[in-house]
Amino acid sequence: MATSFITIKEVPISNNCPECFNNTGLKIIYKQKFVETKYYKSITDTITQDIICDNCHTTIYPVRWTEDIERVVAYQKKVLSPKTASTYLKKRTWVIAASTILTILIIVSLLIYLQL
Ligand SMILES: [Zn+2]
Repeated sequence: MATSFITIKEVPISNNCPECFNNTGLKIIYKQKFVETKYYKSITDTITQDIICDNCHTTIYPVRWTEDIERVVAYQKKVLSPKTASTYLKKRTWVIAASTILTILIIVSLLIYLQL
């Protein structure tokens, strides 16, 4: 099973970076978790958010957030529209399902035929 986090949104914010005090480099990055197996692909409702600074290349962890950053994060979370969680089966799964049903049908009709 492979899980991956795919960036769904990057929001530049104009707050001051708590590390380098620059106000041009901060951005919030939202990532959504995807799961892929041999048989299906799934979009989960797990979403991570990271704040990074392009100027000093630092990840700003929640302990370092100022009140202003927290306010912006709370607002952005409200307007974020993630992909709806969903799962879809791969072709291989449909083929297996179809051949299983077909096999059952053949066996059932054979049984019925033999009893007549
Ligand atoms: Zn910085």
